[in-house]
Amino acid sequence: MENKRVRLRFAPSPTGGLHMGGVRTALFSYLFAKKHNGDFILRIEDTDQTRYVKGAEEYIIESLKWCGIEPNEGVGFGDGKFAPYRQSERKELGIYAKYAQQLIDTGHAYYAFDTSEELDAMRKRLEAAKVVAPQYNSVSRQNMRNSLTLSEDEVKKLMDAGTPYVVRLKVPRNEEIRFHDIIRGWVVVNSTQVDDKVLLKSDGMPTYHLAHIVDDIEMEISHAVRGEEWLPSAPSHVLIYRYLGLEDKMPLLAHLPLILKPDGNGKLSKRDKSGIPMFPLNWFDERTNESYVGYRESGFFPEAFINMLGMLGWNPGTPQEIFSLEELIQAFSFERVNKSGAKFDPEKTKWFNQQYLRKKSDAELAELFKPMLEEKLINNNQSTIINQQYIEGVCKLVKEKAHFVNEFWAGGSYFFIAPTTYDEKVIAKKWNENSKTIFLKLIEEFNSQTTFDATTIHNAIVETETKMAAKVDLQLLRVLVSGAAGGPAIHDMIALIGKQEIVKRIETALINIK
Ligand code: GLU
Repeated sequence: MENKRVRLRFAPSPTGGLHMGGVRTALFSYLFAKKHNGDFILRIEDTDQTRYVKGAEEYIIESLKWCGIEPNEGVGFGDGKFAPYRQSERKELGIYAKYAQQLIDTGHAYYAFDTSEELDAMRKRLEAAKVVAPQYNSVSRQNMRNSLTLSEDEVKKLMDAGTPYVVRLKVPRNEEIRFHDIIRGWVVVNSTQVDDKVLLKSDGMPTYHLAHIVDDIEMEISHAVRGEEWLPSAPSHVLIYRYLGLEDKMPLLAHLPLILKPDGNGKLSKRDKSGIPMFPLNWFDERTNESYVGYRESGFFPEAFINMLGMLGWNPGTPQEIFSLEELIQAFSFERVNKSGAKFDPEKTKWFNQQYLRKKSDAELAELFKPMLEEKLINNNQSTIINQQYIEGVCKLVKEKAHFVNEFWAGGSYFFIAPTTYDEKVIAKKWNENSKTIFLKLIEEFNSQTTFDATTIHNAIVETETKMAAKVDLQLLRVLVSGAAGGPAIHDMIALIGKQEIVKRIETALINIK
Protein backbone atom coordinates (compact mmCIF):
# COMPACT_ATOMS: atom_id res chain seq x y z
CA MET A 1 0.00 0.00 0.00
CA GLU A 2 2.74 2.44 1.01
CA ASN A 3 4.28 2.63 -2.41
CA LYS A 4 1.06 2.75 -4.32
CA ARG A 5 0.63 5.82 -6.45
CA VAL A 6 -2.11 8.06 -5.06
CA ARG A 7 -5.06 7.85 -7.43
CA LEU A 8 -8.54 9.03 -6.53
CA ARG A 9 -11.61 8.93 -8.64
CA PHE A 10 -14.76 10.95 -8.64
CA ALA A 11 -17.37 8.52 -9.87
CA PRO A 12 -20.76 10.16 -10.27
CA SER A 13 -23.74 8.56 -11.93
CA PRO A 14 -25.25 10.72 -14.67
CA THR A 15 -28.69 10.56 -13.09
CA GLY A 16 -29.20 14.31 -12.77
CA GLY A 17 -27.45 17.55 -12.02
CA LEU A 18 -24.49 17.35 -9.70
CA HIS A 19 -25.63 18.46 -6.25
CA MET A 20 -23.17 20.48 -4.16
CA GLY A 21 -22.66 17.41 -1.94
CA GLY A 22 -21.26 15.67 -5.00
CA VAL A 23 -18.98 18.60 -5.70
CA ARG A 24 -17.66 18.34 -2.15
CA THR A 25 -16.87 14.66 -2.68
CA ALA A 26 -15.01 15.61 -5.85
CA LEU A 27 -13.23 18.43 -4.02
CA PHE A 28 -11.97 16.31 -1.13
CA SER A 29 -10.73 13.67 -3.55
CA TYR A 30 -9.06 16.34 -5.66
CA LEU A 31 -7.39 17.94 -2.62
CA PHE A 32 -5.98 14.67 -1.39
CA ALA A 33 -4.78 13.62 -4.83
CA LYS A 34 -3.06 16.94 -5.46
CA LYS A 35 -1.51 17.05 -2.01
CA HIS A 36 0.14 13.73 -2.69
CA ASN A 37 1.07 14.50 -6.29
CA GLY A 38 -1.38 11.90 -7.40
CA ASP A 39 -4.09 11.56 -10.03
CA PHE A 40 -7.65 12.71 -9.96
CA ILE A 41 -9.91 10.77 -12.28
CA LEU A 42 -13.44 11.27 -13.54
CA ARG A 43 -15.26 8.00 -14.07
CA ILE A 44 -18.85 7.99 -15.24
CA GLU A 45 -20.93 5.28 -13.58
CA ASP A 46 -23.72 4.92 -16.08
CA THR A 47 -24.71 1.30 -15.63
CA ASP A 48 -28.24 2.15 -14.55
CA GLN A 49 -29.76 2.88 -17.93
CA THR A 50 -33.20 3.51 -16.46
CA ARG A 51 -31.91 6.47 -14.48
CA TYR A 52 -29.71 7.92 -17.20
CA VAL A 53 -30.36 11.62 -17.74
CA LYS A 54 -29.33 13.36 -20.93
CA GLY A 55 -26.96 16.25 -20.37
CA ALA A 56 -25.94 15.14 -16.89
CA GLU A 57 -22.47 14.07 -17.97
CA GLU A 58 -21.79 17.39 -19.69
CA TYR A 59 -23.11 19.15 -16.61
CA ILE A 60 -20.69 17.29 -14.35
CA ILE A 61 -17.76 18.11 -16.60
CA GLU A 62 -18.69 21.78 -16.87
CA SER A 63 -19.19 22.02 -13.12
CA LEU A 64 -15.77 20.61 -12.32
CA LYS A 65 -14.23 23.02 -14.82
CA TRP A 66 -16.02 26.00 -13.32
CA CYS A 67 -14.90 24.98 -9.83
CA GLY A 68 -11.31 24.65 -11.00
CA ILE A 69 -11.02 21.06 -9.78
CA GLU A 70 -10.25 19.42 -13.07
CA PRO A 71 -9.44 15.74 -13.29
CA ASN A 72 -6.21 14.94 -15.09
CA GLU A 73 -7.70 11.73 -16.44
CA GLY A 74 -11.14 10.51 -17.41
CA VAL A 75 -14.29 11.36 -19.32
CA GLY A 76 -14.00 14.83 -20.81
CA PHE A 77 -10.48 15.37 -19.52
CA GLY A 78 -8.27 13.21 -21.67
CA ASP A 79 -7.78 9.50 -21.65
CA GLY A 80 -5.08 7.92 -19.59
CA LYS A 81 -3.95 4.37 -19.92
CA PHE A 82 -7.08 3.10 -18.18
CA ALA A 83 -9.61 4.20 -20.81
CA PRO A 84 -12.49 3.89 -21.35
CA TYR A 85 -13.79 5.71 -18.27
CA ARG A 86 -17.49 5.27 -18.93
CA GLN A 87 -18.84 2.09 -17.39
CA SER A 88 -21.28 1.44 -20.23
CA GLU A 89 -18.28 1.31 -22.59
CA ARG A 90 -16.29 -0.85 -20.21
CA LYS A 91 -19.17 -3.29 -20.02
CA GLU A 92 -18.96 -3.76 -23.79
CA LEU A 93 -15.39 -4.96 -23.32
CA GLY A 94 -16.57 -7.74 -21.02
CA ILE A 95 -14.56 -6.44 -18.07
CA TYR A 96 -17.27 -6.90 -15.46
CA ALA A 97 -18.54 -10.24 -16.73
CA LYS A 98 -15.06 -11.67 -16.34
CA TYR A 99 -14.93 -10.81 -12.65
CA ALA A 100 -18.50 -12.00 -12.06
CA GLN A 101 -17.59 -15.30 -13.69
CA GLN A 102 -14.61 -15.65 -11.40
CA LEU A 103 -16.87 -15.21 -8.37
CA ILE A 104 -19.30 -17.79 -9.74
CA ASP A 105 -16.52 -20.25 -10.53
CA THR A 106 -15.11 -19.98 -7.03
CA GLY A 107 -18.53 -20.45 -5.44
CA HIS A 108 -18.87 -16.91 -4.13
CA ALA A 109 -21.63 -15.85 -6.44
CA TYR A 110 -24.67 -17.60 -7.86
CA TYR A 111 -27.48 -17.24 -10.38
CA ALA A 112 -30.91 -16.22 -9.19
CA PHE A 113 -34.00 -16.60 -11.36
CA ASP A 114 -36.60 -15.10 -9.07
CA THR A 115 -39.20 -12.91 -10.72
CA SER A 116 -40.17 -9.60 -9.16
CA GLU A 117 -43.43 -11.22 -7.99
CA GLU A 118 -41.46 -13.94 -6.23
CA LEU A 119 -39.23 -11.34 -4.61
CA ASP A 120 -42.26 -9.40 -3.43
CA ALA A 121 -43.82 -12.55 -2.02
CA MET A 122 -40.60 -13.32 -0.16
CA ARG A 123 -40.57 -9.84 1.38
CA LYS A 124 -44.19 -10.18 2.45
CA ARG A 125 -43.54 -13.58 3.95
CA LEU A 126 -40.65 -12.26 5.99
CA GLU A 127 -42.57 -9.20 7.10
CA ALA A 128 -45.39 -11.45 8.28
CA ALA A 129 -42.82 -13.41 10.23
CA LYS A 130 -41.77 -10.11 11.86
CA VAL A 131 -38.36 -9.98 10.25
CA VAL A 132 -37.21 -6.38 10.72
CA ALA A 133 -35.32 -5.83 7.50
CA PRO A 134 -36.42 -8.45 4.99
CA GLN A 135 -33.69 -9.19 2.51
CA TYR A 136 -32.30 -11.77 0.14
CA ASN A 137 -29.64 -13.32 2.32
CA SER A 138 -28.04 -16.48 3.62
CA VAL A 139 -31.34 -17.54 5.18
CA SER A 140 -34.01 -16.41 2.74
CA ARG A 141 -32.09 -17.54 -0.36
CA GLN A 142 -32.74 -21.11 0.68
CA ASN A 143 -36.38 -20.69 -0.26
CA MET A 144 -35.77 -18.93 -3.55
CA ARG A 145 -35.11 -20.05 -7.11
CA ASN A 146 -31.39 -19.87 -7.52
CA SER A 147 -28.44 -22.03 -8.46
CA LEU A 148 -27.97 -22.91 -4.79
CA THR A 149 -31.44 -24.44 -4.45
CA LEU A 150 -31.99 -25.74 -7.96
CA SER A 151 -30.19 -28.71 -9.44
CA GLU A 152 -27.52 -28.21 -12.07
CA ASP A 153 -29.86 -29.60 -14.68
CA GLU A 154 -32.63 -27.23 -13.77
CA VAL A 155 -30.28 -24.29 -13.89
CA LYS A 156 -29.03 -25.33 -17.30
CA LYS A 157 -32.56 -25.74 -18.59
CA LEU A 158 -33.58 -22.28 -17.37
CA MET A 159 -30.49 -20.75 -18.93
CA ASP A 160 -31.00 -22.52 -22.24
CA ALA A 161 -34.59 -21.31 -22.30
CA GLY A 162 -33.29 -17.76 -21.94
CA THR A 163 -34.92 -17.21 -18.53
CA PRO A 164 -33.83 -13.85 -17.12
CA TYR A 165 -31.45 -14.13 -14.19
CA VAL A 166 -29.21 -12.03 -12.00
CA VAL A 167 -25.90 -12.91 -10.40
CA ARG A 168 -25.79 -12.48 -6.63
CA LEU A 169 -22.98 -12.40 -4.12
CA LYS A 170 -23.07 -15.36 -1.75
CA VAL A 171 -22.67 -13.78 1.66
CA PRO A 172 -21.72 -16.22 4.42
CA ARG A 173 -23.80 -16.61 7.51
CA ASN A 174 -22.69 -15.14 10.81
CA GLU A 175 -19.22 -13.97 9.97
CA GLU A 176 -17.58 -10.82 11.21
CA ILE A 177 -16.62 -8.35 8.50
CA ARG A 178 -14.11 -5.69 9.50
CA PHE A 179 -12.81 -2.80 7.52
CA HIS A 180 -11.04 0.45 8.19
CA ASP A 181 -12.40 3.81 7.17
CA ILE A 182 -9.92 6.69 7.25
CA ILE A 183 -12.54 9.01 8.72
CA ARG A 184 -14.49 6.61 10.93
CA GLY A 185 -11.85 4.17 12.06
CA TRP A 186 -12.63 0.46 12.31
CA VAL A 187 -16.10 -0.63 11.30
CA VAL A 188 -17.31 -4.11 12.26
CA VAL A 189 -20.45 -5.65 10.83
CA ASN A 190 -21.88 -9.15 11.13
CA SER A 191 -22.58 -10.76 7.78
CA THR A 192 -26.10 -11.60 8.95
CA GLN A 193 -26.91 -7.96 8.30
CA VAL A 194 -25.50 -8.06 4.80
CA ASP A 195 -27.69 -9.06 1.86
CA ASP A 196 -26.72 -11.07 -1.18
CA LYS A 197 -26.19 -8.07 -3.41
CA VAL A 198 -26.96 -8.33 -7.10
CA LEU A 199 -23.70 -8.10 -9.04
CA LEU A 200 -24.96 -8.51 -12.59
CA LYS A 201 -28.45 -7.50 -13.59
CA SER A 202 -30.69 -9.40 -15.96
CA ASP A 203 -29.78 -7.02 -18.80
CA GLY A 204 -26.16 -8.06 -18.32
CA MET A 205 -25.22 -4.72 -16.82
CA PRO A 206 -23.17 -4.81 -13.65
CA THR A 207 -24.55 -3.08 -10.58
CA TYR A 208 -22.67 -0.30 -8.87
CA HIS A 209 -21.38 -2.82 -6.32
CA LEU A 210 -19.55 -4.94 -8.83
CA ALA A 211 -18.68 -2.26 -11.36
CA HIS A 212 -17.03 0.21 -9.04
CA ILE A 213 -14.91 -2.53 -7.46
CA VAL A 214 -13.74 -3.86 -10.79
CA ASP A 215 -12.93 -0.35 -11.96
CA ASP A 216 -11.21 0.64 -8.75
CA ILE A 217 -9.03 -2.44 -9.11
CA GLU A 218 -8.31 -2.01 -12.80
CA MET A 219 -7.77 1.73 -12.54
CA GLU A 220 -5.42 1.23 -9.58
CA ILE A 221 -7.40 3.50 -7.31
CA SER A 222 -5.69 4.07 -3.98
CA HIS A 223 -8.45 5.85 -2.04
CA ALA A 224 -12.20 5.69 -2.55
CA VAL A 225 -13.94 8.74 -1.19
CA ARG A 226 -17.71 8.81 -1.23
CA GLY A 227 -20.82 9.86 0.65
CA GLU A 228 -21.89 8.34 3.93
CA GLU A 229 -24.90 6.74 2.21
CA TRP A 230 -22.52 4.11 0.86
CA LEU A 231 -21.28 3.01 4.26
CA PRO A 232 -23.92 0.26 4.67
CA SER A 233 -22.81 -1.41 1.42
CA ALA A 234 -19.12 -1.31 2.27
CA PRO A 235 -19.17 -4.75 4.01
CA SER A 236 -20.41 -6.37 0.78
CA HIS A 237 -17.61 -4.63 -1.06
CA VAL A 238 -15.02 -5.93 1.37
CA LEU A 239 -16.30 -9.46 0.73
CA ILE A 240 -16.10 -9.01 -3.02
CA TYR A 241 -12.45 -7.94 -2.83
CA ARG A 242 -11.75 -10.88 -0.54
CA TYR A 243 -13.45 -13.42 -2.80
CA LEU A 244 -11.64 -12.07 -5.81
CA GLY A 245 -8.43 -12.62 -3.88
CA LEU A 246 -7.64 -8.93 -4.36
CA GLU A 247 -7.94 -7.52 -0.87
CA ASP A 248 -4.53 -5.93 -1.29
CA LYS A 249 -5.97 -3.94 -4.21
CA MET A 250 -8.80 -2.55 -2.14
CA PRO A 251 -8.55 1.23 -1.93
CA LEU A 252 -8.56 2.87 1.47
CA LEU A 253 -12.11 3.95 2.18
CA ALA A 254 -13.30 7.36 3.32
CA HIS A 255 -17.01 7.95 3.84
CA LEU A 256 -17.74 11.65 4.06
CA PRO A 257 -20.22 13.01 6.60
CA LEU A 258 -23.65 14.14 5.44
CA ILE A 259 -24.37 17.77 4.69
CA LEU A 260 -27.23 18.76 6.98
CA LYS A 261 -29.99 21.33 6.64
CA PRO A 262 -29.24 24.77 8.14
CA ASP A 263 -31.17 23.86 11.32
CA GLY A 264 -29.26 20.60 11.60
CA ASN A 265 -32.43 18.57 11.18
CA GLY A 266 -31.82 15.99 8.52
CA LYS A 267 -30.01 15.83 5.23
CA LEU A 268 -29.77 18.96 3.09
CA SER A 269 -32.24 18.65 0.25
CA LYS A 270 -31.63 19.78 -3.32
CA ARG A 271 -34.94 21.61 -2.92
CA ASP A 272 -33.67 23.57 0.08
CA LYS A 273 -35.35 26.95 0.35
CA SER A 274 -32.66 29.00 2.10
CA GLY A 275 -32.18 31.07 -1.05
CA ILE A 276 -28.67 29.77 -1.64
CA PRO A 277 -28.20 27.44 -4.61
CA MET A 278 -27.78 23.70 -4.14
CA PHE A 279 -26.19 23.17 -7.54
CA PRO A 280 -22.94 24.58 -8.94
CA LEU A 281 -24.55 25.63 -12.24
CA ASN A 282 -28.13 26.15 -13.34
CA TRP A 283 -29.80 22.81 -13.83
CA PHE A 284 -33.07 21.91 -15.46
CA ASP A 285 -34.49 18.48 -14.75
CA GLU A 286 -36.37 17.40 -17.87
CA ARG A 287 -38.11 14.53 -16.11
CA THR A 288 -39.68 16.61 -13.38
CA ASN A 289 -39.63 19.98 -15.12
CA GLU A 290 -37.84 21.45 -12.11
CA SER A 291 -35.22 24.15 -12.46
CA TYR A 292 -32.46 24.75 -9.99
CA VAL A 293 -30.33 27.87 -9.88
CA GLY A 294 -26.59 27.54 -9.82
CA TYR A 295 -23.90 29.17 -7.73
CA ARG A 296 -22.32 30.43 -10.93
CA GLU A 297 -25.45 32.11 -12.24
CA SER A 298 -26.25 33.57 -8.80
CA GLY A 299 -23.04 35.51 -8.88
CA PHE A 300 -20.84 33.38 -6.63
CA PHE A 301 -17.15 33.23 -7.35
CA PRO A 302 -15.95 29.65 -7.83
CA GLU A 303 -13.19 30.30 -5.28
CA ALA A 304 -15.78 31.25 -2.66
CA PHE A 305 -17.95 28.24 -3.44
CA ILE A 306 -14.98 25.90 -3.18
CA ASN A 307 -13.72 27.53 0.01
CA MET A 308 -17.17 27.15 1.59
CA LEU A 309 -17.43 23.51 0.51
CA GLY A 310 -13.95 22.81 1.80
CA MET A 311 -15.01 23.87 5.28
CA LEU A 312 -18.15 21.73 5.16
CA GLY A 313 -17.10 18.79 7.29
CA TRP A 314 -13.39 19.57 7.33
CA ASN A 315 -11.49 22.08 9.46
CA PRO A 316 -7.84 23.04 9.53
CA GLY A 317 -7.61 22.96 13.33
CA THR A 318 -6.79 26.69 13.31
CA PRO A 319 -9.09 29.72 13.14
CA GLN A 320 -8.22 30.30 9.47
CA GLU A 321 -11.32 30.27 7.29
CA ILE A 322 -10.20 31.74 4.00
CA PHE A 323 -8.33 29.24 1.88
CA SER A 324 -7.36 29.38 -1.74
CA LEU A 325 -7.52 26.08 -3.57
CA GLU A 326 -3.76 25.80 -3.27
CA GLU A 327 -3.93 26.41 0.49
CA LEU A 328 -6.68 23.82 0.83
CA ILE A 329 -4.47 21.31 -0.96
CA GLN A 330 -1.64 21.98 1.46
CA ALA A 331 -3.80 21.88 4.58
CA PHE A 332 -6.15 19.02 3.74
CA SER A 333 -6.16 15.65 5.44
CA PHE A 334 -8.87 13.05 6.01
CA GLU A 335 -7.95 12.95 9.68
CA ARG A 336 -9.48 16.39 10.04
CA VAL A 337 -12.75 15.44 8.36
CA ASN A 338 -15.54 15.07 10.92
CA LYS A 339 -17.52 11.90 11.35
CA SER A 340 -20.71 13.77 12.19
CA GLY A 341 -22.86 15.69 9.73
CA ALA A 342 -21.88 19.21 8.64
CA LYS A 343 -24.52 21.91 8.89
CA PHE A 344 -24.96 24.02 5.79
CA ASP A 345 -24.89 27.70 6.66
CA PRO A 346 -26.50 30.00 4.03
CA GLU A 347 -25.31 33.24 5.66
CA LYS A 348 -21.78 31.96 5.93
CA THR A 349 -21.91 30.97 2.29
CA LYS A 350 -22.69 34.56 1.34
CA TRP A 351 -19.99 35.75 3.72
CA PHE A 352 -17.42 33.66 1.86
CA ASN A 353 -18.41 35.35 -1.38
CA GLN A 354 -18.10 38.74 0.25
CA GLN A 355 -14.57 37.94 1.38
CA TYR A 356 -13.56 37.09 -2.16
CA LEU A 357 -15.35 40.14 -3.51
CA ARG A 358 -13.29 42.34 -1.22
CA LYS A 359 -10.09 40.69 -2.34
CA LYS A 360 -10.70 41.54 -5.99
CA SER A 361 -9.12 44.64 -7.44
CA ASP A 362 -11.41 47.44 -8.62
CA ALA A 363 -10.29 46.75 -12.17
CA GLU A 364 -11.33 43.08 -11.90
CA LEU A 365 -14.66 44.01 -10.38
CA ALA A 366 -15.22 46.60 -13.10
CA GLU A 367 -14.76 43.90 -15.74
CA LEU A 368 -17.41 41.77 -14.06
CA PHE A 369 -19.75 44.66 -13.47
CA LYS A 370 -19.55 46.19 -16.97
CA PRO A 371 -21.82 43.74 -18.81
CA MET A 372 -24.51 44.11 -16.13
CA LEU A 373 -24.09 47.85 -16.13
CA GLU A 374 -24.42 48.09 -19.89
CA GLU A 375 -27.60 46.08 -19.85
CA LYS A 376 -29.11 48.30 -17.17
CA LEU A 377 -28.10 51.47 -18.95
CA ILE A 378 -29.55 50.27 -22.23
CA ASN A 379 -32.79 49.34 -20.46
CA ASN A 380 -32.87 52.83 -19.01
CA ASN A 381 -32.15 54.50 -22.35
CA GLN A 382 -28.84 55.84 -21.12
CA SER A 383 -25.56 56.11 -22.91
CA THR A 384 -23.23 53.21 -22.17
CA ILE A 385 -20.08 55.19 -22.82
CA ILE A 386 -18.58 55.50 -19.38
CA ASN A 387 -15.05 56.15 -18.40
CA GLN A 388 -13.22 53.07 -17.10
CA GLN A 389 -11.78 54.94 -14.15
CA TYR A 390 -15.24 56.06 -13.14
CA ILE A 391 -16.58 52.48 -13.16
CA GLU A 392 -13.64 51.33 -11.08
CA GLY A 393 -14.29 54.17 -8.66
CA VAL A 394 -17.91 53.06 -8.30
CA CYS A 395 -16.84 49.46 -7.69
CA LYS A 396 -14.46 50.61 -4.99
CA LEU A 397 -17.27 52.39 -3.16
CA VAL A 398 -20.15 49.95 -3.58
CA LYS A 399 -18.23 46.76 -2.90
CA GLU A 400 -18.03 47.60 0.79
CA LYS A 401 -21.67 46.77 1.37
CA ALA A 402 -22.15 44.05 -1.25
CA HIS A 403 -21.84 40.27 -1.22
CA PHE A 404 -22.12 39.95 -5.00
CA VAL A 405 -21.19 41.99 -8.05
CA ASN A 406 -24.80 41.67 -9.17
CA GLU A 407 -25.76 43.87 -6.21
CA PHE A 408 -23.66 46.76 -7.48
CA TRP A 409 -26.38 48.19 -9.67
CA ALA A 410 -28.99 48.17 -6.92
CA GLY A 411 -26.46 49.70 -4.54
CA GLY A 412 -25.15 52.34 -6.89
CA SER A 413 -27.38 53.01 -9.90
CA TYR A 414 -27.36 56.71 -8.93
CA PHE A 415 -23.71 56.89 -9.90
CA PHE A 416 -24.95 56.56 -13.47
CA ILE A 417 -28.45 57.98 -13.42
CA ALA A 418 -29.48 61.13 -11.56
CA PRO A 419 -32.27 60.54 -9.05
CA THR A 420 -35.82 61.61 -9.83
CA THR A 421 -37.27 60.53 -6.51
CA TYR A 422 -35.91 61.16 -3.04
CA ASP A 423 -36.14 58.99 0.06
CA GLU A 424 -39.41 60.18 1.55
CA LYS A 425 -38.64 59.36 5.15
CA VAL A 426 -35.48 61.41 5.17
CA ILE A 427 -37.16 64.34 3.43
CA ALA A 428 -40.10 64.27 5.84
CA LYS A 429 -37.78 64.23 8.80
CA LYS A 430 -34.99 66.55 7.74
CA TRP A 431 -36.29 69.07 5.21
CA ASN A 432 -37.24 72.44 6.66
CA GLU A 433 -37.73 76.04 5.56
CA ASN A 434 -33.98 76.74 5.81
CA SER A 435 -32.84 73.77 3.76
CA LYS A 436 -33.09 75.43 0.40
CA THR A 437 -30.98 78.46 1.40
CA ILE A 438 -28.37 76.26 3.01
CA PHE A 439 -28.00 74.07 -0.06
CA LEU A 440 -27.88 77.06 -2.38
CA LYS A 441 -25.01 78.33 -0.28
CA LEU A 442 -23.37 74.94 -0.42
CA ILE A 443 -23.53 75.06 -4.22
CA GLU A 444 -21.84 78.41 -4.10
CA GLU A 445 -19.09 77.03 -1.88
CA PHE A 446 -18.60 74.01 -4.14
CA ASN A 447 -18.29 76.33 -7.10
CA SER A 448 -15.70 78.45 -5.37
CA GLN A 449 -13.41 75.42 -4.82
CA THR A 450 -10.86 74.82 -7.55
CA THR A 451 -10.63 71.11 -6.85
CA PHE A 452 -13.34 68.67 -5.86
CA ASP A 453 -12.20 65.89 -3.57
CA ALA A 454 -13.13 64.60 -0.11
CA THR A 455 -11.12 67.37 1.58
CA THR A 456 -12.37 70.31 -0.44
CA ILE A 457 -15.92 68.97 -0.17
CA HIS A 458 -15.48 68.88 3.58
CA ASN A 459 -14.12 72.43 3.53
CA ALA A 460 -17.06 73.65 1.49
CA ILE A 461 -19.47 72.14 3.97
CA VAL A 462 -17.68 73.70 6.95
CA GLU A 463 -17.56 77.03 5.17
CA THR A 464 -21.30 76.89 4.48
CA GLU A 465 -22.05 76.03 8.08
CA THR A 466 -20.00 78.91 9.38
CA LYS A 467 -21.47 81.43 7.00
CA MET A 468 -25.06 80.27 7.52
CA ALA A 469 -24.62 79.56 11.22
CA ALA A 470 -26.47 76.31 10.56
CA LYS A 471 -25.69 72.66 9.99
CA VAL A 472 -25.57 71.11 6.53
CA ASP A 473 -27.53 67.94 7.04
CA LEU A 474 -25.38 65.26 5.47
CA GLN A 475 -28.10 62.71 5.15
CA LEU A 476 -30.28 65.19 3.40
CA LEU A 477 -27.39 66.05 1.11
CA ARG A 478 -26.97 62.38 0.35
CA VAL A 479 -30.64 62.05 -0.56
CA LEU A 480 -30.57 65.13 -2.80
CA VAL A 481 -27.70 63.79 -4.87
CA SER A 482 -28.45 60.06 -4.84
CA GLY A 483 -32.11 59.70 -3.92
CA ALA A 484 -31.18 57.01 -1.36
CA ALA A 485 -30.89 57.18 2.40
CA GLY A 486 -27.78 55.02 2.63
CA GLY A 487 -24.63 54.34 0.67
CA PRO A 488 -20.88 54.70 0.77
CA ALA A 489 -19.01 57.46 2.61
CA ILE A 490 -20.67 60.65 1.44
CA HIS A 491 -17.60 62.74 0.66
CA ASP A 492 -16.14 59.97 -1.48
CA MET A 493 -19.43 59.45 -3.25
CA ILE A 494 -19.85 63.14 -4.04
CA ALA A 495 -16.26 63.48 -5.16
CA LEU A 496 -16.62 60.59 -7.56
CA ILE A 497 -19.84 61.86 -9.12
CA GLY A 498 -18.06 65.18 -9.76
CA LYS A 499 -18.76 68.83 -9.13
CA GLN A 500 -20.72 69.70 -12.22
CA GLU A 501 -23.10 66.78 -11.86
CA ILE A 502 -23.49 67.23 -8.11
CA VAL A 503 -24.37 70.90 -8.48
CA LYS A 504 -26.88 70.02 -11.19
CA ARG A 505 -28.42 67.33 -8.99
CA ILE A 506 -28.80 69.61 -5.98
CA GLU A 507 -30.36 72.30 -8.16
CA THR A 508 -32.82 69.81 -9.63
CA ALA A 509 -33.66 68.48 -6.19
CA LEU A 510 -34.30 71.96 -4.87
CA ILE A 511 -36.83 72.43 -7.65
CA ASN A 512 -38.38 68.99 -7.23
CA ILE A 513 -38.80 69.03 -3.48
CA LYS A 514 -41.85 71.08 -2.42
N1 GLU B 1 -21.71 6.20 -8.63
C1 GLU B 1 -21.78 6.41 -7.22
C2 GLU B 1 -22.65 7.61 -6.93
O1 GLU B 1 -23.16 8.18 -7.82
C3 GLU B 1 -20.38 6.65 -6.72
C4 GLU B 1 -20.09 6.12 -5.37
C5 GLU B 1 -18.58 5.95 -5.25
O2 GLU B 1 -17.88 6.95 -5.36
O3 GLU B 1 -18.10 4.83 -5.09
O4 GLU B 1 -22.85 8.00 -5.83
